[in-house]
Amino acid sequence: MGTATLHIDLNAVVANWQALNALSGPGVETGAVVKADGYGLGAGKVARALHRAGVRRFFVAVAEEGAALRQDIGPEPVICVFSGHMAGDADMLHDLNLTPMLNSIEQMTRHFESLPGQRFGVQLDTGMNRLGLEPMEWAAARAIVMAQNPTLVMSHLACADEPDHPMNAAQLSAFRDMTDDLGVPRSLSATGGILLGAEYHFDITRPGIGLYGGAPFAEAAPVVRLAVPLIQTRDVAQGETVGYGGSWSAEEPSVIATLSAGYADGLIRAMGNEAVLFADDIPCPLAGRVSMDLLTVDITHLTRIPDHLDILCTAQTVDDLAASANTIGYEILTSLGPRYQRRYTGVC
Ligand SMILES: *Cc1c(COP(=O)(O)O)cnc(C)c1O
Repeated sequence: MGTATLHIDLNAVVANWQALNALSGPGVETGAVVKADGYGLGAGKVARALHRAGVRRFFVAVAEEGAALRQDIGPEPVICVFSGHMAGDADMLHDLNLTPMLNSIEQMTRHFESLPGQRFGVQLDTGMNRLGLEPMEWAAARAIVMAQNPTLVMSHLACADEPDHPMNAAQLSAFRDMTDDLGVPRSLSATGGILLGAEYHFDITRPGIGLYGGAPFAEAAPVVRLAVPLIQTRDVAQGETVGYGGSWSAEEPSVIATLSAGYADGLIRAMGNEAVLFADDIPCPLAGRVSMDLLTVDITHLTRIPDHLDILCTAQTVDDLAASANTIGYEILTSLGPRYQRRYTGVC
């Protein structure tokens, strides 16, 4: 089989949620963010495993994701939609009982007119300048909004992965100023915010990347292993080049393996000659540019030819691979693409 295999450990996802739930502290509800198809790992399977482990609230980016998720997890769990109530969403929000996080006066007007009495939350902007009502808008709207009984008030931290960044305390203070006297459940923290400490936790936390084994949750159990089959090997003489642009040349007689995955599978070209693959625990460097469907790897030092090499594994996490491409683990995971055979361990 030429298709690479993405092994996804749902037991590790559950263990990561349990660890983040313990860090969130007693009396705090820990939800789960499964937007972008569960960070590329399969929202339905991830959410079903987490639901079975006790998660009662999920977060998605857009209503369509929430609608699909509802079919996977049944009627009970709360599904919150970060993008709020967009034009055309009313039937979906209503029929699938989704909870939009209203982001603007325009969305509030749309929601209260088209779906009076339907659950909703409010997103406030405390400094990230991305989504939510600004403090002045909230001051003007809050009496009207509170009369409609929001079920959640939330905001999002811009710099939570840098614990010493002054923006964390500034956003915490702004959030408290806007919400301290409301008496409505509050949520401020994603994975990074959970690690900042109890004062950032409020009533509900919203981890995403930590569930999937990514930084900044350094203690996360690894969730993915990506095994790429070897199609062919060849001997390359000293001075010969490999791949597009002839960017790699053999300094000595070498053995080059050609593997079946490339940038169309999210193994982005930018990782260039920095990345390595692993034969069990032996690192093998990329040799030459990443092609659309192929990787070329220097395996001169191996004593036997393996049938596959791992590009994501315990020796090279999503964050390690991201570093070699000058990006973040989130982008590696969500880029992995549809061509892999996905093998799940753990119930799903
Ligand atoms: C994506 C997202 C999260 C989850 O963030 P992680 O850093 O992946 O834990 C939480 N809240 C909002 C608003 C988000 O957009």
